[in-house]
Amino acid sequence: MKETSTRLVLHFPKETWDKPVIYKLVKDYDLIVNILRAEILPKMEGSAVIELRGERKRIGEAVKFLKSLKIKIKPLELDIFREDEKCVHCGACIAPCPTNAFYLDQETFKVKFDKDKCVGCGHCIPACPLRIIYSTEF
Ligand code: SF4
Ligand code: SF4
Repeated sequence: MKETSTRLVLHFPKETWDKPVIYKLVKDYDLIVNILRAEILPKMEGSAVIELRGERKRIGEAVKFLKSLKIKIKPLELDIFREDEKCVHCGACIAPCPTNAFYLDQETFKVKFDKDKCVGCGHCIPACPLRIIYSTEF
């Protein structure tokens, strides 16, 4: 059995807002699901950033299941950089970051970037007013 993990951005159509999608991933496909960010509101389109861990084959089957519900799926593979010397530490990149990769250092009151925590969702890129956060794939 080959274990692996993958991080995905999901966009849910409004028809799926009340479907037990995560429950099915765990129960039917035997996956560990880590929800890194989710915005789901009744009867509206939603989005989530999730990490799936489990058998490679089962992850493939789970992705097919998600697609059968017309959920759009995008892998998280962006490699994010910041031009540190240009940062004015305004903090605008902190709230959109689902993993606290951008965070306020409580001692220096500077905004720091912990690349190890970044899942490459890209939410921080449009948030920066100076446009100093970028990815090789944007
Ligand atoms: S891409 Fe930006 S918002 Fe997404 S996890 Fe990485 S630092 Fe946070
Ligand atoms: S939004 Fe841009 S300028 Fe503001 S703290 Fe983040 S990286 Fe620095």
